[in-house]
Amino acid sequence: MKVEVICIGDELLIGQTVNTNASWIGSEFAKQGVKVAFCTVIKDTVSDIVNALDLALSRVDTVVITGGLGPTKDDITKHTLTKYFNTELEINQEVLERVTTYFKKRGRSMLDVNMQQAAMPKSCKVLRNDHGTASGMWFDYEGKVVISLPGVPHEMKHILIESGFPLLKEKFGSKALYHRTLQFQGIGESYIADRIADIEESLVEAGLKFAYLPSAGLVRFRISGADSQRDIDIISSFVDELYERFPENVFGEGNDSLAEVIGRLLTEKEMTLGSVESCTGGTVASEIVHVQGSSSYFLGSIVSYANEVKTNFVGVNEYDIIQQGAVSETVVKQMAQNGREKLGVDYCISTSGIAGPGGGSEEKPVGLVWVGVAGPEGVSARKFLFGDFRERNIRMTVLSALNLLRCKLLEINTEKK
Ligand code: ATP
Ligand code: MG
Repeated sequence: MKVEVICIGDELLIGQTVNTNASWIGSEFAKQGVKVAFCTVIKDTVSDIVNALDLALSRVDTVVITGGLGPTKDDITKHTLTKYFNTELEINQEVLERVTTYFKKRGRSMLDVNMQQAAMPKSCKVLRNDHGTASGMWFDYEGKVVISLPGVPHEMKHILIESGFPLLKEKFGSKALYHRTLQFQGIGESYIADRIADIEESLVEAGLKFAYLPSAGLVRFRISGADSQRDIDIISSFVDELYERFPENVFGEGNDSLAEVIGRLLTEKEMTLGSVESCTGGTVASEIVHVQGSSSYFLGSIVSYANEVKTNFVGVNEYDIIQQGAVSETVVKQMAQNGREKLGVDYCISTSGIAGPGGGSEEKPVGLVWVGVAGPEGVSARKFLFGDFRERNIRMTVLSALNLLRCKLLEINTEKK
């Protein structure tokens, strides 16, 4: 199967809407072992749609179109496809009922333009949309397939998952793949590669593929092979090896986030958490409360940005701030320890650093950050040197602080070797 995605919409071309449909469709096909060969973005005009379809059908066997299916005049995809495939529109009773019920349920009256959404090209297979009023369409054409879907991302996803992919599997068969994705924090992709160089080669020879997917402070490492017992066994023993080699860095799999992993650990241990934050300004707390159910373990946070707040509210020793500076091991440890008491929590995270772009010195450059964690077994702190970019420094600090807590909860030694 060779796939082309055509995304219709002026808003995509002028950058008003990010083309998340293309990336989602690309990654969903990739999971099934199919590479999208082309992705075309075009305006909502008849000639552009016709030209894009001509080109796509000359080079692939499966075309997935998104956008331009709504009830408004500017949505011309359905009419253009009807002409292109030399068929005509007729009211589809099932779709009409679905659209009518959709409006009834929401207590809205149905306009004539909405009624028109039940008019479907005669020769297409209708792909049911339970999330909206624009149905998807499947056209068989000279052994090839054209699928047309609404542009609204959750409607498009729903139709592809429920109808599109199963029908494609039926038509083309499947070449199933097996993946595992490990999440790393606090180590760059080149360092990971270096530390697995001794095993990587034999795995590549065995036919496995690796992909490093880095983002600020995190690396997702994906290992893929065939969906066969042999590959599943090789991959799972490799994954076990990675957990063993990188206990400090591998924090989860798939779409796990550090905050979720910590939430699970704290819940298991029935322990509570708080934070005392300087350079992260509450972002650690924010990351934690984005996790559902965090109220059962996260009690609160003190944002102690100014030195006066560090001394007056958190009880950091004024003399230590003058002597060592606010960005220091001593201060960050006091913030974590005092925070435990002030907030009445079992564990407390603290952060203090120079996020930049100003405020750096030779001795304490921009990007210098201290992170602390205090718990029942004592307090520890770690120094980081990130870089020049404020947003990135804050993000890296949050992730490093959460990971330091994770290591503490799992009793993993984080002392620099
Ligand atoms: P509607 O019934 O809303 O008119 P439609 O099928 O006509 O649906 P569009 O009008 O093209 O789709 O887009 C509807 C919404 O979906 C818009 O908010 C648009 O920005 C968004 N959208 C369209 N295409 C994409 C895309 N490729 N990626 C992300 N969002 C998209
Ligand atoms: Mg529209």
